[in-house]
Amino acid sequence: MLSDKVDKVPDKIENIQDLEGVGPVTAGKLTDAGFDSVEALAVAPIREVMDKANLESSAVTKIIKAARQAIQLDFINAKELWEKRQGMLKLTTGAKNFDRLLGGSGVETQAITEFVGEFGTGKSQLCMKLSITAQQPQKDGGLEGKILFIDTEGTFAPQRIHQMAQAMQLEPEKILEGIFYSRVYNSDHQILAVDRSFKLCQEENIKLLIVDSVLSHFRSEYIGRENLSERQQKLNAHLHKLTRIAQALNLAVVVTNQVQANPQAFFGDPTRPAGGHILAHASTHRIMLRKASGGLRAAKVIDSPFLPESETFYRITEKGIEDATPKARRED
Ligand code: ADP
Ligand code: MG
Repeated sequence: MLSDKVDKVPDKIENIQDLEGVGPVTAGKLTDAGFDSVEALAVAPIREVMDKANLESSAVTKIIKAARQAIQLDFINAKELWEKRQGMLKLTTGAKNFDRLLGGSGVETQAITEFVGEFGTGKSQLCMKLSITAQQPQKDGGLEGKILFIDTEGTFAPQRIHQMAQAMQLEPEKILEGIFYSRVYNSDHQILAVDRSFKLCQEENIKLLIVDSVLSHFRSEYIGRENLSERQQKLNAHLHKLTRIAQALNLAVVVTNQVQANPQAFFGDPTRPAGGHILAHASTHRIMLRKASGGLRAAKVIDSPFLPESETFYRITEKGIEDATPKARRED
């Protein structure tokens, strides 16, 4: 179900069959193609519905318009936008300073948060930690929802979640039950997993959708300059879908990303996030992670529309991640 805070529509059309222009046959085609709810249709691109459901452009245009009207998606005034933002929830990382870095109370719903960093900086640890905190009550910084964890690298570790939950004095088995897991083996599989996730997210009250990591398959499959534009096109559509899910269902999307060498950097950081402008544009918040001295890690906000660029330190522990203070605040 849509969160009460997002969905304020009085006479809600529940079924796609009740939309103007949708008869039983069309409803069947749409459902088979994965567009089985009014919300899914309202946020779908026309082209995609045409292709997947094998329907005419004029019919699809009409249906999408009806779906948007049904959930009043087309025009909202700034007050409604403000109200929608008020419905935004925050998800704690379990570490105060880290949450503060993220703007106060952690990761936001209705947005994509991207954790970028080299291997071993704790990206997957963070994702696993958030899979636990997201299930906690809102008063404890959670989202009171379930998690969809899309794993592209096979590094999701239920035993690690079990350990963290135990260390946090929660019931590990209950926590594990609240996580839907999907191991995806290539970029098309990844795209499909997200395309199909709308219904699951809605029905199962998913409040956190993780893609760890978002780019690895794309990077290994589309090699060479000649394939870059196709890659970026697919990636763009994929990220837009994630954004729409985040907004339509008031859930948090967290993606991880690696760094790549930045040949243009004569000064400063010789690495930059992979994925180019497309990913930079799609992520609402980007957090750069790095290894610091003494086994610590440092996190820094980059490119945020409203968060200040500051740095905080953390340590990976039994409980997941914890705030830390470096011995000498000099950077290594
Ligand atoms: P990334 O996803 O950024 O490549 P990970 O999230 O997999 O990195 O983090 C790996 C790091 O986490 C390693 O340095 C490892 O030592 C540390 N780590 C994993 N489990 C634990 C644990 N139970 N206690 C402390 N550190 C851990
Ligand atoms: Mg990882």
